[in-house]
Amino acid sequence: MKKINVAGRIAAEALKNLFRKPSSETEQSAAVPDGYRGLIVYNPENCIACGLCVRDCPAGAIKIVNEGTKEDKKLNASIDTGRCIFCCQCVDSCMKGCLSVSDNYNLNAVSREEMVKKL
Ligand code: SF4
Ligand code: SF4
Repeated sequence: MKKINVAGRIAAEALKNLFRKPSSETEQSAAVPDGYRGLIVYNPENCIACGLCVRDCPAGAIKIVNEGTKEDKKLNASIDTGRCIFCCQCVDSCMKGCLSVSDNYNLNAVSREEMVKKL
């Protein structure tokens, strides 16, 4: 008898949730406080691919690789949001001002691969 009650409760809960708004967000909608550290932003314009940001990242989260030549750069930058601790050391380390912090907190992902964001 008890089993039926449990099954009934589960079914009722499942039905209720069918008509509820999702509790997770797919778009950034809330205001964030001043100084909030969200996703790191990369501007490749002045990047010399020196690797200082990569070297100084305590979490091994940022990768910037020049897949071209010194003269003809093809910069490939990514950040692993599963590793990043949002310390902003990479921003401080970049002498060329290529990295900055945004208020983007919408970093949802459904797989480990998706956590690695192309910058
Ligand atoms: S914010 Fe910190 S942890 Fe994240 S990539 Fe930059 S240095 Fe690494
Ligand atoms: S520290 Fe700045 S210039 Fe050097 S690789 Fe990183 S983003 Fe580029």
